[in-house]
Amino acid sequence: MHTHKGYELAPFEPRRRRSAVLIALAICLTASIFAIDVFTPFDGAIAVLYIGVILLLAPSGRRAVMASGLITALLTVFAFAFGHLTNASDGAASRFVVSLVAIAITTLMSMRDRSSRTTLGEQARILELSHDTVIIRDSNDVIVYWNDGAEKLYGWSRGEALGRNCGELLQCRFPAQEIATVMDEIGQWSGEVVRTRRDGTPLVLASRWLRRRDPDGRSIGTIESSADLTEKRRADEQSLASERKYRTIFDSAGFATWESDWSETMRVALASVPDGQQLATWLESHPEITQQAVAAAVIRDANPAAVDLFEADARETLVGSNLCGRYLPRGASALSDVIVALAAGETMAETEVRMQTFGERVADVVLRVTILPGGQNWSHVLVMAFDVTERNEARTRYEQVSAELAHAARVSMLGQLAASIAHEVNQPLAAIINYGKSAKRFLRRPQPDLEDVGSCVDKMISNGTRAAQVVDRVRKLARKAAPQADPINLSDLIEDAIALIKSEARAQSVRLRQRSSGDLPNVVADRVQVQQVLVNLLMNAIQAMREVDNRARELCIDTTVTPDGMVRVAVADCGTGFPMGGEARMFEPFYTTKPDGMGIGLSICRSIIEHQGGRISAANNEVFGATVSFTLPIGVPQAAKTLEPIS
Ligand code: ADP
Repeated sequence: MHTHKGYELAPFEPRRRRSAVLIALAICLTASIFAIDVFTPFDGAIAVLYIGVILLLAPSGRRAVMASGLITALLTVFAFAFGHLTNASDGAASRFVVSLVAIAITTLMSMRDRSSRTTLGEQARILELSHDTVIIRDSNDVIVYWNDGAEKLYGWSRGEALGRNCGELLQCRFPAQEIATVMDEIGQWSGEVVRTRRDGTPLVLASRWLRRRDPDGRSIGTIESSADLTEKRRADEQSLASERKYRTIFDSAGFATWESDWSETMRVALASVPDGQQLATWLESHPEITQQAVAAAVIRDANPAAVDLFEADARETLVGSNLCGRYLPRGASALSDVIVALAAGETMAETEVRMQTFGERVADVVLRVTILPGGQNWSHVLVMAFDVTERNEARTRYEQVSAELAHAARVSMLGQLAASIAHEVNQPLAAIINYGKSAKRFLRRPQPDLEDVGSCVDKMISNGTRAAQVVDRVRKLARKAAPQADPINLSDLIEDAIALIKSEARAQSVRLRQRSSGDLPNVVADRVQVQQVLVNLLMNAIQAMREVDNRARELCIDTTVTPDGMVRVAVADCGTGFPMGGEARMFEPFYTTKPDGMGIGLSICRSIIEHQGGRISAANNEVFGATVSFTLPIGVPQAAKTLEPIS
């Protein structure tokens, strides 16, 4: 029986000790042979015995074999020279030659044997190192070799497995007949076998079998190498299950979803950027590059909801195509944001675009772009699209209605101010008339004083300008126009608002005070709407002080810049304050405590301020009255940005 023992490598220390013993023995033997050869009259081919020394040292390695061959050959030459050269007997020279030849042949053969043993040893080591199981069986299916891989996988140690019948030990299940036929025909077989571990768990293995033959070609068993497929099978099944799950979700998702290859899109976009330029700024100034890049995206798959969204005939209309031509002009710049985000390493980006369907419908769509795992260089991108057309239409309608309501409220507010506005215009008009009359009088004098006349005309002009300014302010506030996002200086706006209510305040004996913490930065908002808010708050404050007789009526407008980048305007009065719970309700539409009130002023103020990205709040003061304040962001307000029309 073969055993694996022949292939085992001896441990390092004992091997060295064994070599030392061998070398000592070899030296003794060499010395003895040399002594007999030189000092005894024995007339035979003693030197031939040196081959024993060479064979003795053969296991110690190639160098030992070579050294022993060389030394024994030299000793043979020396002995011949010493004993026989002067007194050469008849056969001495031929015995000398025979000895040398024998030593040379033995040295060469030992060296060859050594190298083939080394090769065999290395091969055995490779078998040990293999993660796969390597089993050698004889023709009766008895195990004669069992590597570490087999020990680990099957749970049987080498000592337990050797000599056992493989089929019985591992409860093998495989098509025995079929394998036997193939092995007989071509000497090898590969396929799957099912075996059982020591602990009873079944294993599925990918196995390769090779027939072993003796030098005469007779079958002497099988070498097999097998790899465990159980884990791989389980992983395959799991990945198949998750693939099916993904497919089901993909197909049954209620929103349009498609999978695209964006590798070329990203390559086109990135390759176009000149050295030293930022991708974002480059794409912003070159929308045609984004168009080209998007045209290079190819749809790999699309779900039925995507077919519906694009009003396509079938999935095939979308698959293989790109949607470049479907994006309406502003779509490209929205998509450049996505390209920039993905290039920066983001795995998800979102944007809103307007698209043209195959059925000519225009749809507003929010696109969520996600990089799928496993793809390379943006080759697998999942795009989910949410149709927000109806939402946007409703939002536009809501904005129109809000703007109309705000306008109606402004007009109604101006109606409340009508008397004081009329007074405000009347004053300069009366002055103009008076100055006109005086000028006329001056002209009727026998010697008209033109200087006096000139001064009257100057006064008429300045009063006329004042009246025109009042009318202009009223006209601006009464105007009906789409909201704009302008950079505005709140100090100027407050001045204008004060000018409008000044006369009303005077009529109600209200003193106006203004406090500001220095120069205010601009806010970006709609001028008319913010003006409306200011006038509304000032009017409410004046009205809240109408019933106050026991203290000075004072209205204070305070402006500050907050640490979070907002400008805050607070309108404080010393009026009645809010009734209990009024702070919470006063922004509700139609909440009013005034007999002639409509209760929509503050609710409109709130929607205007929040629309511009600010906040409005109200609170009673500690002693008297209330303060209503609002904030507006410095720079571009977010809300105003998102409410921009999409195309
Ligand atoms: P209206 O002025 O038509 O009543 P508003 O929406 O402007 O509508 O105001 C709602 C209510 O909030 C007012 O009726 C009043 O009760 C309360 N209110 C508003 N401003 C003040 C204030 N400065 N002091 C006290 N109450 C106020």
